[in-house]
Amino acid sequence: MTKILKATKDNLIKAKELLLNGELVGFPTETVYGLGADGTNKKAVSEIYKVKGRPSDNPLIAHVHKDYDLTKLVKNIRPYALDLIKAYTPGPLTLVFESKGVVVDEATCGLNTLAIRIPLKKEAQELLKLVDIPIVAPSANLSKHVSPVTAEHVYKDFEGKIPLIIDGGKCEGGIESTVLDVTGEVPEILRAGLITKEMIEKVVGVCKVAKHKEGEKAKSPGVMYTHYRPKTNTALFTKEEIQKSIELYEEYIKQGKTPYFMCDEDAKKDLVGKNILYLGKTAEDIASNLYYKLREGEEKADIIIAIEPAYNGGVYEGVLNRLRRACK
Ligand code: AMP
Ligand code: MG
Repeated sequence: MTKILKATKDNLIKAKELLLNGELVGFPTETVYGLGADGTNKKAVSEIYKVKGRPSDNPLIAHVHKDYDLTKLVKNIRPYALDLIKAYTPGPLTLVFESKGVVVDEATCGLNTLAIRIPLKKEAQELLKLVDIPIVAPSANLSKHVSPVTAEHVYKDFEGKIPLIIDGGKCEGGIESTVLDVTGEVPEILRAGLITKEMIEKVVGVCKVAKHKEGEKAKSPGVMYTHYRPKTNTALFTKEEIQKSIELYEEYIKQGKTPYFMCDEDAKKDLVGKNILYLGKTAEDIASNLYYKLREGEEKADIIIAIEPAYNGGVYEGVLNRLRRACK
C-alpha cells in the first residue's frame, strides 16, 4: 500500500519515522519529486537502486536542511563554494565536494566525492530538519522514465513499492538541479539546470562546463544515460524544420491517430488549430512545464512531436538538454 499524504506536521513525522526505519519516502522539492532514503543506511540506499532499476554506477545526491553543518559530510570546502552556498542555497544547486565517507559508498558508487543539495521547497526543508540526517534522493521515477513533478507521477511509478509519498503540489522549477563540481580551483557544471553558468560566474568570476567525449568516463555518470523518456512515440524538430514536423503530424491524423505538438510560444503561432502540449513563453516556463507535459503527452498522444525552442544559453541549456534526450 502506498499512501499519498499532505505535508502536515503529523505526516512529516510519519515520513521521518519511515526514513529512520530504513524505508523509502517520496517527497517534493522545488525541482522534481525525490525518492528519499537514509544516506547512512546501506540497505536503505541499495533499496533505492532496486526499486528504481537505477544503474549501480549512477551516484545519488545527499539532501540536507539549510542549517546542517556540511563539514560533517565533506572536507576541503573552497571559499568560492561558500560564496555559492550563500548566494544560491537553499535552491536548485547541487555541489560536489570531497566526501568524508559518512554517506555510504552505495550512494556515491565508490567515488571519493559527495553531491550535496539544500532544497528550497518548504516541505523538503521541514522534513530534512525533522530527520536531521543526510537523505539521499534521486528523482522519484523509474530509471529512464520522465522525472515526476506531482505526487501522482510518483504514485504511477511506485504504487505498492514504497509506503509513503508526501504531497507538496506541483514542483515549480520542473527540471533537476544544476550539478556543479566545486572540488577544483574553478567550478565546473556537470549538469545544466536553473542555476546557470552566468549566475555562477557572477559570484565566482569563472565557470567551466564539462564536455564528455565519446568513450571517456563522465565525471557525472548520470548525464550519460538516456533519461526522461515518455512511454509513447516521440519526434524532435528544430524551428526551421516546422514544415516537416507538420507533415508528420498530418500523416498521423490520416491514420486516425492522435498526434500532439509540444512547443513554446514562438512555434505555437505556426501551429494554430492543432493539438498542442504548450510549454510556455520563457525558458523558466518551459523548464517548469516540460516534464508535466511529457507525462500528459504519454497519456493522451500517439506521438509527441517536439519543436525545439530556438534559443541558447541560460536556462535554455538545461531545457534543451532534457528535451533532446526525451524526444530524440
Ligand atoms: P538524479 O537524482 O536522478 O537526478 O541524479 C543525480 C545525478 O547527480 C547523478 O546522475 C550524477 O550525474 C550527479 N551526481 C551525484 N553524485 C555525484 C558525484 N559524487 N559526482 C558527480 N556527479 C554526481
Ligand atoms: Mg533522475
